[in-house]
Amino acid sequence: MAIQLLAKPLVEKTKKQLEAKCKVLKEKDIIPKMQVIYIGDNKASRLYTRKKKKFCENFGAIVDIIHLPSETTEKEFLETINNINLDKTTHGCFIQLPVPTQLEHLDIGELISPQKDVDGFHAENLRHLMRNSNEELYFVPCTPGGIMALLSHYQIPVEGKNVVIVGRSMIVGKPLSLLMTNHNATVTVCHSKTNNLREITRSADIIVSAVGKPRYLDASYINNEKDQVVIDVGINHDQDGILCGDINFNEVEPLVYAITPVPGGVGPLTVLYLAQNLLQAAEKNI
Ligand code: NAP
Repeated sequence: MAIQLLAKPLVEKTKKQLEAKCKVLKEKDIIPKMQVIYIGDNKASRLYTRKKKKFCENFGAIVDIIHLPSETTEKEFLETINNINLDKTTHGCFIQLPVPTQLEHLDIGELISPQKDVDGFHAENLRHLMRNSNEELYFVPCTPGGIMALLSHYQIPVEGKNVVIVGRSMIVGKPLSLLMTNHNATVTVCHSKTNNLREITRSADIIVSAVGKPRYLDASYINNEKDQVVIDVGINHDQDGILCGDINFNEVEPLVYAITPVPGGVGPLTVLYLAQNLLQAAEKNI
């Protein structure tokens, strides 16, 4: 039976550290504050923003959700962000995606000032990631940061390992490939045009899947002669509406050394890392 890499123990441990840091800041009259911009009526966006608010408020931060109507104009949107960038009491901000079509042409990652960009998508933060700067100097993107923290918590080394990432998005696959490289892994990034995906995943020490297709990777992608570690980033619903990852858990779990379940694996770590980035932003503000 594989080791299940659960987020909960890491979340509980880190939450205590965040509470302690928040207390120290409060003694200096600083309350970590984040503003979240959410536009329109996307149900998933509403759920995600509420989750992030609840988590951060639990350890003592303030989170304001700015809910803008779907018909918000570019001018109104940019004014809202500009006000947040200028507000000295706000340490972090992020824009919950997706945005409505009239705002899609904007380079969303560039709008929030890099010092408040707790999502880690601003070019200045990404440049630090590319340059392998000290991670305290910039904001590491949340899902990739959460995955590294989970592996470290379970003492799974990445140095020298052959890591195969399936998915090359700007929020998961690409930044994770840089972060893994910075931590001395040898990384292969795969996507929908990759030939012989099975052959590549079967050669991996660590497989990370961020494809977005319910139970897409089954036993045929696994090599049970290796002690493989499988990280499932996918958050999907199957045709019966059941929440599941990209990995066919029932088939894959008996064949690998360790695996993240869905739910309870990578999901909560994105929120945790966002909270860590918020604290980092507030601490820098001293
Ligand atoms: P995305 O932007 O849609 O990217 C999906 C990637 O998968 C693309 O690079 C695509 O290749 C690749 N792909 C699609 N079909 C493939 C196939 N048959 N074989 C190999 N590669 C294939 O998705 P995303 O935003 O990265 O999200 C991926 C999944 O992770 C989703 O389920 C999402 O909900 C979840 N997610 C979870 C968290 C979390 O906190 N746990 C955070 C972010 C995302 P091309 O580039 O060639 O199209």
